[in-house]
Amino acid sequence: TALLTNDMLALWDRENFFHPSTHLAKHARGETATRVITGGKGVWIEDRDGRKLLDAFAGLYCVNVGYGRTEITDAIAEQAKQLAYYHAYVGHGTEASITLSKMILDRAPAGMSKVYFGLGGSDANETNVKLVWYYNNILGRPQKKKIISRWRGYHGSGLMTGSLTGLGLFHKKFDLPLTQVLHTEAPYYYRRADLSMSEADFVAHCAAELESLIAREGADTIAAFIGEPALGTGGLVPPPAGYWEAIQAVLEKHDILLIADEVVTGFGRLGTMFGSDHYGMRPDIITIAKGLTSAYAPLSGSIVSDRMWQVLMQGTDENGPIGHGWTYSAHPIGAAAGVANLNLIDSLGLVNNAGDTGAYFLAALRDRLGAHANVGDIRGEGLLVAVEFVQDRDTRTYFDPADTIGAKVAGALLAEGVIGRAMPEGDILGFAPPLCLTRAEADEIVGRLDKAVATVF
Ligand code: PLP
Repeated sequence: TALLTNDMLALWDRENFFHPSTHLAKHARGETATRVITGGKGVWIEDRDGRKLLDAFAGLYCVNVGYGRTEITDAIAEQAKQLAYYHAYVGHGTEASITLSKMILDRAPAGMSKVYFGLGGSDANETNVKLVWYYNNILGRPQKKKIISRWRGYHGSGLMTGSLTGLGLFHKKFDLPLTQVLHTEAPYYYRRADLSMSEADFVAHCAAELESLIAREGADTIAAFIGEPALGTGGLVPPPAGYWEAIQAVLEKHDILLIADEVVTGFGRLGTMFGSDHYGMRPDIITIAKGLTSAYAPLSGSIVSDRMWQVLMQGTDENGPIGHGWTYSAHPIGAAAGVANLNLIDSLGLVNNAGDTGAYFLAALRDRLGAHANVGDIRGEGLLVAVEFVQDRDTRTYFDPADTIGAKVAGALLAEGVIGRAMPEGDILGFAPPLCLTRAEADEIVGRLDKAVATVF
């Protein structure tokens, strides 16, 4: 492969490779670059030209322990040599998958009972919806099936999960959302609240919106509510204080299950093991993926509560085995990566580091950029941090989306050697670096962002 030129790879790429989430026509015409990443260590990745970039988005907020961890790659290699694959149907497992199920439950919030393993966050959320439907069928309420999600929520790209996702880009021209899905207000105080509205009033508004949606549709038709503890792809937004308490009160009143989608927040990103711990959520199902293996191998999970588990067991007593399984459920290589990854998170103290370094990073960003005329909001929890750009900070006038200001800042930052992510809606630059980020590396991001911002405005 050393003989391959970059031009040759770019040509093969344009001619053969159908990339996800990409402007296909521009890429095929060579208007967007082919980027070949060859290595990584800690928070740094390296491209084929030998250029080192500080990856302040940890891939797709998933490489939580950082790149190049031999503790995980060795575990993967050993598992692959010993047994690369066996399935998990009808009671089969490996030492790794059984151990990992225990390690997950040992760390999960109170009341959780079992973990079902999948491949990625999307299929885990598909599983969750099926389990919720199965649950209500077993309980003899077949009409209670609709799922409520939030605008700006992100839950995947499948038929159902793409429907749950509340971002227009993921619906457009795909005939989504499917009819069983409803969307309600996002807890996005900065962008959604009236300038005169307090946080507490906005929380009350979100709860009232949910109440009226339930009243309109009928509580007996609604099965579950799905939400990320802190919004991810929709804008990296920690909810205002009291939000989850208010939402849960409504859900519990109407016997609606809560699915906490912790694909991003699970395993430390907010400075607690789970976002549910952070916000006092009492979920019936928790979705996990990304941070479960730090993306060293694909693996996801649906952690179900004891309350659900009892009904699922009753269902199989009445109907036979549950008709839901993937070939790669609990894949041994993913499971081996997961065990090594969770051990590493503990031994490196990454959950605490995410909280401490996250707070330091947020303060440094506010210090350096907080007074900038085009910086409207700097927010974050742990190492999930965003800077939102506006045309006028006093009136919160947004830029015309056609100006793609967020993408321009991300591009200028990349030119400075740091990867941030221009989020799909709004001029929001997202940061979700590996949880091993140091204060010196945080300073590095802030300094280079300051320079990048100066080149755009
Ligand atoms: N849920 C959340 C909260 C996510 O952020 C993502 C992906 O970013 C998913 C689900 C979908 O996961 P995957 O891309 O692994 O299917």
